[in-house]
Amino acid sequence: MRGMPSRHRLVSRRQNATHVRGQPYQIDMLDVASHRRTPLFKHPVYNLLYGHFSPDGRWVSFTVRVQPNRSRIVIAPVDEPKPVPESAWIKITEEGAEDWADWSPDGRTLYFTSERDGHTCLWGQRIEVNSHRPSGEAFVIKHFHGRTFYPQGGVGQPPETALRLCFQRILAMFG
Ligand SMILES: [Zn+2]
Repeated sequence: MRGMPSRHRLVSRRQNATHVRGQPYQIDMLDVASHRRTPLFKHPVYNLLYGHFSPDGRWVSFTVRVQPNRSRIVIAPVDEPKPVPESAWIKITEEGAEDWADWSPDGRTLYFTSERDGHTCLWGQRIEVNSHRPSGEAFVIKHFHGRTFYPQGGVGQPPETALRLCFQRILAMFG
């Protein structure tokens, strides 16, 4: 089996299905039809969040929260519905705790949020086709400096929501 069919979704949940404080979040693949869950990514200490399939369904990007204020954005191959060892995770960038990534429509660039210039903006990192490692420097997709960043002129809309809306528009533009 190469790549996960589109009926699968990625969901984060706490390990061991308990609500014990401090249990890290892992990322499961959820089969929408059967409701079957398959753990794909877990770590004994770090929370794993914001999983997104690549357009061909063969890779997943996600956020590894390595400290309360720091995360690693990684990608990993998913050839079969089974756990992917940490040794197969490829680091794309180091960002803040809430930063997250999603794929360009051709799967060759990872878009991610970053506060590296002091604002939460959208950045891109090209991924080398064969090695799937970062290729070149990260580049700006879109700056969000100041209030123009809120799509409906709204005050009080969480930045996360506004960024997601913008992200979807950018993906639609390329699509
Ligand atoms: Zn910026």
